Amino acid sequence: MAPRIAVMTSGGDSAGMNAAVRAVAKSAILRGCQAWVVREGWEGLVRGNAEGEEESTDGDATPPHPEPETLPPSVAQPPGTSEARRWRGTYGQGELLREGVGEAEELGLKGKYILRVGWDDVRGWMDQGGTLIGTARCAAFREVAGRQRAARNLISCGIDALVVCGGDGSLTGADRLRAEWPELVAALLERGEISAEQAQRHRHLKIVGLVGSIDNDMATTDMTIGAATALARICEAVDSISSTAASHSRAFVVEVMGRHCGWLALMAGIATGADYVFLPERPPPGDWRADMCGVLARHREMGKRKTIVIVAEGALARDLTPISPDDIKAVLAERLGLDTRVTTLGHTQRGGKPVAADRVLATLQGVEAVEALLEATPETPSYVIGIRENKITRIELMHAVQQTQLVAQRIEKQDFDGALALRDSEFAEGLRAFDVISKIDERELVPQEQRIKMGIIHLGAPAGGMNAATRTAVRYCLAHGHTPVVIHNGIPGLLADSVAEINWLRVDNWTTRGGSELGTNRVLPDSDFGAVAAKLQQHKIEGLLVIGGFEAFLAVKQLNEQRANYPAFRMPIAAIPATISNNVPVSEFSLGSDTSLNALVDACDAIKQSASASRNRTFVVETQGGRCGYVAVMGALAAGAVLVYTPEHGIGLQELGEDVAWLRRRFELDTKGKSEGRLVIRNERASDVYTTEVITKILKEEGQDLFDSRSASLGHTLQGGTPSPLDRARATRLAIKCCEFLTQHALALRKDSTAYGDATAAIIAIRGSDVEFVGAKDMAAQADMKNRRGKTAWWHGLKRLAELMGGRTALKVGE
Ligand code: ATP
Repeated sequence: MAPRIAVMTSGGDSAGMNAAVRAVAKSAILRGCQAWVVREGWEGLVRGNAEGEEESTDGDATPPHPEPETLPPSVAQPPGTSEARRWRGTYGQGELLREGVGEAEELGLKGKYILRVGWDDVRGWMDQGGTLIGTARCAAFREVAGRQRAARNLISCGIDALVVCGGDGSLTGADRLRAEWPELVAALLERGEISAEQAQRHRHLKIVGLVGSIDNDMATTDMTIGAATALARICEAVDSISSTAASHSRAFVVEVMGRHCGWLALMAGIATGADYVFLPERPPPGDWRADMCGVLARHREMGKRKTIVIVAEGALARDLTPISPDDIKAVLAERLGLDTRVTTLGHTQRGGKPVAADRVLATLQGVEAVEALLEATPETPSYVIGIRENKITRIELMHAVQQTQLVAQRIEKQDFDGALALRDSEFAEGLRAFDVISKIDERELVPQEQRIKMGIIHLGAPAGGMNAATRTAVRYCLAHGHTPVVIHNGIPGLLADSVAEINWLRVDNWTTRGGSELGTNRVLPDSDFGAVAAKLQQHKIEGLLVIGGFEAFLAVKQLNEQRANYPAFRMPIAAIPATISNNVPVSEFSLGSDTSLNALVDACDAIKQSASASRNRTFVVETQGGRCGYVAVMGALAAGAVLVYTPEHGIGLQELGEDVAWLRRRFELDTKGKSEGRLVIRNERASDVYTTEVITKILKEEGQDLFDSRSASLGHTLQGGTPSPLDRARATRLAIKCCEFLTQHALALRKDSTAYGDATAAIIAIRGSDVEFVGAKDMAAQADMKNRRGKTAWWHGLKRLAELMGGRTALKVGE
């Protein structure tokens, strides 16, 4: 019998849960299993299918993992076969589900909580917020009797494996269910509620957890499903509040979610350029009122017209007294005389479409959950799927839950350092970064003789986060007594002496701005090494921060290579990768790539809607990216495209022919009148011959009466408007590290002018949740210079996954 894998969502909803359900259902089907969903979380499992309707086993003919050239079972069979009939039946249920569970009664789902789903049932779920299969809190499941009913319902539907997507409470429930399973089965058998045969077949229950939580509060994983979207919602709101705050010179206290975890408050504080944050894990030192007023008064002295304070709902003082937004408001009004308003963002933080990062995370984790279930044995522990250092991981479920609950316990014991230690390294660095960019604290000043003059320059095309990085670097310099000088308009600007010192207030609003405030272009130092050297010397620059894409890497490489000829280049040089193409070698991410993915996903959602409205239509969407397919591949994964063409893989005639044939079959199998649009994503440089126009025409010609074809080129829209919060937060973290790197090496060079080895001309690379400096020379060894990208990249294998999730299962030429 084919394994039956059920997926459910439980606890508070979070954006990306639908993408997770979709990924679990699709990969279960791809792996030859039956996919089921449980509506309404544990509540639905306890209730089961009330009409006593037990699922027969006649769907077990589901074929194993599709062979190359076959389609997933739900679409593989021509209409009329018994398998297709079964799928059509399931499809019907799925269609109803898709409308949302709110109308369950009207749609004939009353009393039915455990349903089998087909491939097409979860189509179009990727961009939906909340959870379409419903979630609930369930008191009955906390009792043994409730868990017995849940066990009986699982067994009567023949389900032997369960994926639970929820917070630590839901996952604790999952662990209890698995731990008690043998006793639950024994009790059901004794009472005659299940047969001996069922008891034998369901001796074990396999469970895997996915963390769906907007708070990002699960210890042992860097990100939870929904946190990035919640952060985006918060930042949209705070960005809007900022403009009204500045207009009226007001203070705003914004309360965000986070009972035991300040991740949302901290990241929002960094990303929006807030003035002060209150977190559960790190209460302010001493008297919070005095500390906050000290910081905010200094900001006003500097000339700021607005004050933004972000407070997590679980914010505490050192003595564990809760700090409420109204307390803060009263202090601001009384002590600083500020016209203060409170905004509680509440449930708006949960709502809305998932951002690209959540869609990708949920998809990768959903796929891994199914793999973990298939590999599970009675001896293996239950896992929760996490992400660490950009790698999808399996962590023992109860270990993850215990570590998470330990945070709250340590906070209760006023062991704040202990609580912080359980957060990932990014959190601690974020805290430090927030202090540097928000506090004007003279205790941080370094002695006069250790102060340097740091130049900041943008190179290449604009990318989201460039301005946030510049703001951080400027603030870092000022906080430590260094002199920041900004170079406008890249290398030509340097040569034209567009070089100026910059003050604290000038950069205040830069975090949220897209594009490049300094101005940027593609001119490199080799346009005139001598003149560049002369200008760097003339302006007495002792450390250079370069922010940009492949050009930034090339510039550092060139300057390093010319150090023998030009002593002016023997200063420390650091580059922050910032490009929507994400083509800088070694680094897994560059600033701007998250913003760009979000822009792509938003555009694709709109295009898909249009393609679906006109029924049988395929859209060929062209993305930027140069000769790097990152945006196309990740965009395909996040937008649910069925095919993706990249420069790395290229496009061949045979592959194109097979793709067209597959698309035809896919449209043929759509239920009449129910056909939907499909997306094909093509990177602008995927092929010189098979251009977007050619592919669109081929599809149009070959689609005949089955489907039509249109194209859309996203062009520069991919640079995005406002940078995403993740890009802004990353920019801050990287800029601080670069400033430390530059100051440290500049001081070493003052002592020893020969200490300018290759390592002092470096690019900061993100590798998972770690960052490291890679010398330009070492980076060049990893670069495909001709194609302006890395020789390898972590995301290459995801092209195949994106197409698998689209249903294109056959192996392609060269794969
Ligand atoms: P959120 O992060 O949104 O709070 P959560 O999953 O932690 O999500 P909870 O309300 O704590 O949300 O738990 C959801 C459901 O999981 C509960 O209503 C209950 O049915 C089940 N559950 C929680 N804790 C336990 C437990 N200790 N034993 C059995 N079931 C539990």
